[in-house]
Amino acid sequence: MDHIVIIGNGISGVTLARHIRKLSDKRITIISAESDYFFSRTALMYVYMGHMKFEHTQPYENWFWKKNRIDLMNGFVEKVNTDSKKLLLKGGSTVSYDKLVIATGSKPNKFGWPGQDLKGVQGLYSKQDLEMLEKNAPNNKVCNRAVIVGGGLIGIEMAEMLRSREIPVTFLVREKSFWNGVLPAGESAMINEHIIEHHIDLQLDTNLEKIIADDNGHAKAVVTDKGETIECNVVGLTAGVAPNIDFLKDSGIEIGRGVKVNRFLETNIKDVYAIGDCAEQHEGIGSRRPIEAVWYTGRMMGETLAQTICGNPRKYNPGHWFNSAKFLDVEYQTYGWVFSERGKKETEQHFHWRHPEEKICITVAFDKDTNQFLGINTFGIRMRHEIFDQWLTENKDIDHVMTYLKDANFDPEFYNLHEDAIVAKYNSDYNKNINPKKKSWKRIFSIA
Ligand SMILES: Cc1cc2nc3c(=O)[nH]c(=O)nc-3n(C[C@H](O)[C@H](O)[C@H](O)COP(=O)(O)OP(=O)(O)OC[C@H]3O[C@@H](n4cnc5c(N)ncnc54)[C@H](O)[C@@H]3O)c2cc1C
Repeated sequence: MDHIVIIGNGISGVTLARHIRKLSDKRITIISAESDYFFSRTALMYVYMGHMKFEHTQPYENWFWKKNRIDLMNGFVEKVNTDSKKLLLKGGSTVSYDKLVIATGSKPNKFGWPGQDLKGVQGLYSKQDLEMLEKNAPNNKVCNRAVIVGGGLIGIEMAEMLRSREIPVTFLVREKSFWNGVLPAGESAMINEHIIEHHIDLQLDTNLEKIIADDNGHAKAVVTDKGETIECNVVGLTAGVAPNIDFLKDSGIEIGRGVKVNRFLETNIKDVYAIGDCAEQHEGIGSRRPIEAVWYTGRMMGETLAQTICGNPRKYNPGHWFNSAKFLDVEYQTYGWVFSERGKKETEQHFHWRHPEEKICITVAFDKDTNQFLGINTFGIRMRHEIFDQWLTENKDIDHVMTYLKDANFDPEFYNLHEDAIVAKYNSDYNKNINPKKKSWKRIFSIA
């Protein structure tokens, strides 16, 4: 019987194991150095914020693994020998495999800043990082101020976490406006305001120069490229992540920024595959990046590879791009492609609407020559995934989207609805006369 060994018990490795078990009787072992059982990384923040206990982040009961004959091994893989098909673990033990899957995720970026390895300086990625944050920043007596370096999704989560314990936070963001490499200008500006209103000291267009130590080797201040010294007890490094693959050096497995894979998620070495955050496509699929460090794509890669490993070769085919996140209490969703000013093609035009008082807005991207709908970002309005998926597949135009926008709304009952105001602005911006149709459950159910 084939022995499938998976390094990494995150969403991609665990999804793969579950699906191989559904499809076959193969022997499966998952190795992880981080935790005994799979947990939801995206929920880590809620543990610090007191909304849930760590156990609640584990989607499966502990008996699930034995019942499904998935062997779990706690250990760190130091070397892979693809000739002998053996893994060497820290401590000296070895594990043999017939097929190996690398699903080792990411690690926080460090850019060689002086002081980056001091005590009190940390990323936010692993269970161990969460435990360290609990020690470093239990309250505002121990941590008088934290400085967060890097304005992405994890940085803003870390700021929210620390603010939940009333710890003063300074947020150093290299860009001139928050996440403006991804978000169009209007949205990015709205999130700047929102961050400041949450009493976070947002310093845009500012880089970290160095971190200064106290006599005990603990961070006591940061110096910025503006020459400012900011006293603090904790420095959060959240300037993006990179594939966690250092242990593969000298293994013969082709490495770029991540583990290079083809559309079947196969590496250059027979019987070795990579999935999730650590996998790098030779070329990005459509407008996607070659490395996709998001939850649902890891899950999709796991599902896809299970088919291939069980004898039904299947290409990774992620469909239309979508994603969701939270900026403090503002929910964000994106479907299709809405590029920032930096990434936008010449023919991509944006229609933007923002609520006059609340932090609610949408941006719809469309082709200015053909009017084809390209994508939508929404902040503070929940949308229905299946509807946008269908409109993107059917190449609908923006007038269709505006006409049927009410069908796409997924906000709970009694929420204020904004579609009439949105369409009125669209009509006025583009001199149109669209009459938004009433929401139709018949139409919605024919898609969903
Ligand atoms: C704080 C935070 C919030 C996030 N929020 C979102 C979100 O809202 N939406 C979203 O889409 N994505 C989010 N992400 C990203 C998402 O969590 C990742 O894309 C996803 O967890 C990656 O899954 P994975 O299976 O590829 O790897 P991981 O979850 O990183 O799992 C890999 C595992 O392999 C282990 N490992 C690595 N090397 C070895 C080795 N040599 N030996 C043994 N074990 C090893 C690691 O310790 C780890 O346990 C967030 C990430 C973080 C950190």
